[in-house]
Amino acid sequence: MAAIQLEHVTKAFAGGVRAVDDVSLSIADGEFLVLVGPSGCGKSTLLRMIAGLEETTEGTISIGDVDVTDLEPPDRDIAMVFQNYALYPHMSVRENLGFGLSVRRTKKPEIERRVGEVATLLGLQDLLERKPAHLSGGQRQRVAMGRAIIREPKAFLMDEPLSNLDAKLRVGMRASLAQLHARLAVTSVYVTHDQTEAMTLGQRVAVMRDGKIVQVDVPQRLYQAPNDLFVAAFIGSPSMNLVEATVAGDEIAFGQFRLPLDASRRPARGIDRVVLGVRPEAFGDAAHAKPHLPRVAIKVDVLEELGSDTYVFFPVAAPRVTVESRDAADDETSLLAEGDSLFTARVDPTTADRVGAALQLAVDPSQFHFFDVRSGESLLST
Ligand code: ATP
Repeated sequence: MAAIQLEHVTKAFAGGVRAVDDVSLSIADGEFLVLVGPSGCGKSTLLRMIAGLEETTEGTISIGDVDVTDLEPPDRDIAMVFQNYALYPHMSVRENLGFGLSVRRTKKPEIERRVGEVATLLGLQDLLERKPAHLSGGQRQRVAMGRAIIREPKAFLMDEPLSNLDAKLRVGMRASLAQLHARLAVTSVYVTHDQTEAMTLGQRVAVMRDGKIVQVDVPQRLYQAPNDLFVAAFIGSPSMNLVEATVAGDEIAFGQFRLPLDASRRPARGIDRVVLGVRPEAFGDAAHAKPHLPRVAIKVDVLEELGSDTYVFFPVAAPRVTVESRDAADDETSLLAEGDSLFTARVDPTTADRVGAALQLAVDPSQFHFFDVRSGESLLST
């Protein structure tokens, strides 16, 4: 076990692409840290740099107290699990698990002991004599994990290890991984583009964008206090509703709506144009909501009934704000994207809504988020 320290780490590929751009991050001994971000943000490159599979252009990487920046992968004492876990097809599960140890000339009884231990840990006892072709996807993934665990490395590095599994199995494996980490407490870095996976697995989550880490925090904080528009839009499903709004005195106006601001949660005085962020659960069916909350009258455009939750989509007569539209802004007006917004509200599943119907929603201003229209940074002091 060991802490991992990244200091001003950069990876520049030929042609000038800075896949990783001046990243500094401390991962504590025994921590489970998730790197998450959209495709191409550099998360795999960063993980491969920690593994030693990618040379570091600038900066230093240490694992434990050892500067490993220039060490070859086998000398770093880490284990990696990939999306495409390659098991040896001609070997049984037992042989696959023990192979790495036999290559390192570990004595036979010791290999047997550790194979037994890992098989028990991962529930593979009854599958030890099977060949990979006769295993399900989830079982193969567990063998791949077992091969990583058996070496007792200082750290596990995982690159989308569950993405080849079907959705249901992925959820099950996610829970197994969390249990496994709780038992082994080995420092783990896990790469995914799936924010749900990131939020459920990570003790801390680092959100990456364009080669940089934009925020690293515990999941709840990322959700409740995103420090910019990108994190706000990326974390949470369904996404936060984002719209341009005007602040006047103690009120905020957007589209056809004008709502009071909460005294304890508002942009600084003097800022009159903002991007307003409202999570779907900040809305609620007016019939069940606290009486003091302001109401909005909406028309149901789309209804999604998921059993435990119902989502209502309704039009807001104001331009939709996306992260791309903010980035393209070289002056304030080009922030505006085409078209109107479609807001999402989470309502009680017993609500008798139907498409086309008028509905009263309550909204909680103490859950509003505000972002700078130019920089996208949060305007709430944290
Ligand atoms: P994904 O989830 O799609 O795998 P990612 O976040 O893991 O994306 P990386 O694979 O780390 O992203 O790639 C980051 C950036 O570096 C991308 O723009 C990619 O095109 C670029 N890149 C990756 N490998 C190379 C390479 N060998 N040569 C040049 N550019 C590369």
